[in-house]
Amino acid sequence: MPRSAVAIANEVVRIESVCQWIGVDLPDVSGRSVKVHCPFGVVYHVDHGAESAFRVYPDTNSAYCFACGTAYRPVSLAAQAWDRDGDRQGVALDLLDRVGFRPSSLAEEWTQVSTREPEIDRAALGLALQVFGERVSPRWGEVQFQSPVKEVLGSCMDLLDLVRTREDVELWLPSCKEALRRALGGIEDHG
Ligand SMILES: [Zn+2]
Repeated sequence: MPRSAVAIANEVVRIESVCQWIGVDLPDVSGRSVKVHCPFGVVYHVDHGAESAFRVYPDTNSAYCFACGTAYRPVSLAAQAWDRDGDRQGVALDLLDRVGFRPSSLAEEWTQVSTREPEIDRAALGLALQVFGERVSPRWGEVQFQSPVKEVLGSCMDLLDLVRTREDVELWLPSCKEALRRALGGIEDHG
């Protein structure tokens, strides 16, 4: 896991969910901040929790208790409620487990995004190489069938089947142009 479990849990796990799990009943939040009784009021507040001093902020996924004078994120709130403040890493992993988050999820999402590239137009790439040949050699129409040009062209077309990504294209086209230029140069030299 590249980032700490605590940082990920604070992002992925909703503060409202943590409130629910530690027994804090929230009214219908619907995005706005709500004021409720602090789960630690009985113990920590001077008024033993009589006043609703605990405010939940869904937009920043956090909570703040005016009586405790403490700001809570999902992990620190759960850690304190479960009396596991010394094991925030473990608490974070438990929270992530509850929401069904697997450590590999982010990596998988990224892979899916990066493989969803637009289809490579191989016909257009093949044509680009033909056009390049015509431009470099005035006798392209006939030399493209002569050695070593035809072999180079054949290899390039074989390689084209392996072109899958944008990076492949950026590698394939310049390399093939260069190989073709050399092959054509060989022919001009001998002719
Ligand atoms: Zn409090």
